[in-house]
Amino acid sequence: MGINDFWTDALGDWMSVCKHEKLSNYAGQRIAIDLSIIINKSLRTDIDRLSATCNPTYKCKDLLQNIIVEHEVLTKTGILPVYVYDGMSPEEKKKEKERRRALLEKAGDKYIELRQQAIDNINAVEPIQFSAEQLKEATESRMKSGKPTPNDQTNILQWMKKQGLECYGSLLEADQQMVALEQDGIVDGIMSEDGDTIANGGKVVYCKLSRKGGYLTCKVFKRDDFMKDCNTYNSKLCTYPELMVDVALLLGNDYMSRIRNNGPVMVLGKYANNEAAEESRRRGNTRGRRQEDGLIDRLANADDKVTFINTLGNNGKRALTEQQRTQYWEARKYMLHAPVIRKNRDTNELYIGPLNDLPAGDGTDWIAYLGSSCGLELVMSDDNLLNDIYNCNILPLTRKPFDCYDGPHNEDGTNAEWFQVLDFNKDPIPIQPTLCLVNWCRARGVDVHPTRSSREYIEQCTRNCIRVNKPLSDDPLTPITGAHDGYRLIKNRIARNDRDTWNNNFVEQMHNIKTMNDKVLKHYLDSGNRADRPSLHERVKRLVESGSYSIKSISCRNVESIDEDTNGSKCILFRFDCLSSRTKVIHQVYAVFEDKKDGEYMIKLSSCSCKKGQYFCSHLIGFLHIIGIVQTHKINSEKELERLYPTKPELIYKEPIRIELNILKDMHRREEAQSKRQSKRQRTS
Ligand SMILES: [Zn+2]
Repeated sequence: MGINDFWTDALGDWMSVCKHEKLSNYAGQRIAIDLSIIINKSLRTDIDRLSATCNPTYKCKDLLQNIIVEHEVLTKTGILPVYVYDGMSPEEKKKEKERRRALLEKAGDKYIELRQQAIDNINAVEPIQFSAEQLKEATESRMKSGKPTPNDQTNILQWMKKQGLECYGSLLEADQQMVALEQDGIVDGIMSEDGDTIANGGKVVYCKLSRKGGYLTCKVFKRDDFMKDCNTYNSKLCTYPELMVDVALLLGNDYMSRIRNNGPVMVLGKYANNEAAEESRRRGNTRGRRQEDGLIDRLANADDKVTFINTLGNNGKRALTEQQRTQYWEARKYMLHAPVIRKNRDTNELYIGPLNDLPAGDGTDWIAYLGSSCGLELVMSDDNLLNDIYNCNILPLTRKPFDCYDGPHNEDGTNAEWFQVLDFNKDPIPIQPTLCLVNWCRARGVDVHPTRSSREYIEQCTRNCIRVNKPLSDDPLTPITGAHDGYRLIKNRIARNDRDTWNNNFVEQMHNIKTMNDKVLKHYLDSGNRADRPSLHERVKRLVESGSYSIKSISCRNVESIDEDTNGSKCILFRFDCLSSRTKVIHQVYAVFEDKKDGEYMIKLSSCSCKKGQYFCSHLIGFLHIIGIVQTHKINSEKELERLYPTKPELIYKEPIRIELNILKDMHRREEAQSKRQSKRQRTS
């Protein structure tokens, strides 16, 4: 979370003066990246959030996919990512960790509360039953509390090693190790959104990463440039570079919670002219110089800095409490001198050294100086262990071998997939998320579905399986990995033609549909309750032109409506993949049309796995555009369209998750079996 008010205040006007630039300007640079930054934001899908919060925990598969995509996006700019893994968490940060854990648990408290009720009722004759709303709320709260586990770190690390990517482990936190790697010349810069990286001494810090106009952009903090005498940043950090760590601690950061009243004005000083500053702020330019009345100015002038902090560290008037005092000096020691792993350039030997040299005359005894209880002694006496941590031969976070994090196993020792194993004592059946129960049953060959089966039925099936101790099926049903159900308002239809199954000859069907000209599209846009905004048109156009549609993935088949307004109407369903322009996630899109000459688009029956999917999203609108292109350019074959429409390589090489198609295959297999049985009965009777 970094330092409070760091970017907006401590860096002065740096944020507005320093412009975003393309990351590709830095092609060839070796940039250290804290894995925890990309891993936390990559935990996105429901199935992953459930996997991470399950008892036992499962590997988050989409997470790995997202990291792979993230890595591809980064390397496409030409930079060379060097990944750095967190080690054991240090004492100093424990408080913040505890606070965050409490926050996470708060995120999950709705789940924990109902789970306790379920546990209390575990032996009741009549099982407790929660309402659909309660369950929904509890599951959502549980998913919110999800974060990547050591399973996931190991999974990603193993992928990186297989790819031959360069990665390093840290003794304690990645933040300090990244700075050490930069100091040692192993990397040219650090990618971080955390102000502590700058306070810790990072020289070139790539931050504020964003996607603008299809490019990855960032702001680059360059210490040498920032510290130049002629700089226009108006930052107190330039005035007192040696007090950076004190600014961080006085403002409050991960190691030291903010002391009451020590806001940015108190620590850094009042603005020289508040009115002018206010005006500047309005214009978004500069906020001007601060007066020399901040705590930091007084600290700089104090002869005895320790006494100053201890007696006046609370808003310049009050002494720190005993606890604050301890925290301040421990944190300061750690930030400046955290133990990091270094490599002797001549001998290639690894050794543990401080981030910055220990104060003279003090600290020949590391452990006494740092007061660390993170197994420092152990690593210092074991060169192999040090080597394994640095080179990520084990998981640096726990210092345990990879095979400890293989994920849960079935009774026969094979790896358990998708909730095949669930601990019903820890999460009793009534509180288990539907998706978990469904996949547990499907692994045992019991055909249940999150939206087509009732919750009651799913719970009943689970209890039956437990009662008869039903083993895993040799031919399990395909797991269901998402809540999105393209079949919410449609069902498969048999019309005795080649579209009774999934069919890739879709161009002919496209020509059958009502001509998609601009007028028709506008009409659909209006009826879709999406205002006819030029920006939306622009976005759709970009989406189509950027090759976000996978033509190869388009397939169609006969369906019929089960929606009350259009029940029974004969339709044709197009299913395809579309790459999200922003998140690089592949969405599964279901577009439904009337199955007749000049068939209309069935807006209500169509859907997409993206968040906006239920309201006619840009992925669906873009598909109508593509149909329009096929119609007006008289494209007559799928091959021709594939040739004319260049699909993004991510879509071709990345194997999309075909789970849903498989489910549909399951359904079809069952339908076929059913109709065979029926005709057999008819023949025999
Ligand atoms: Zn969509």
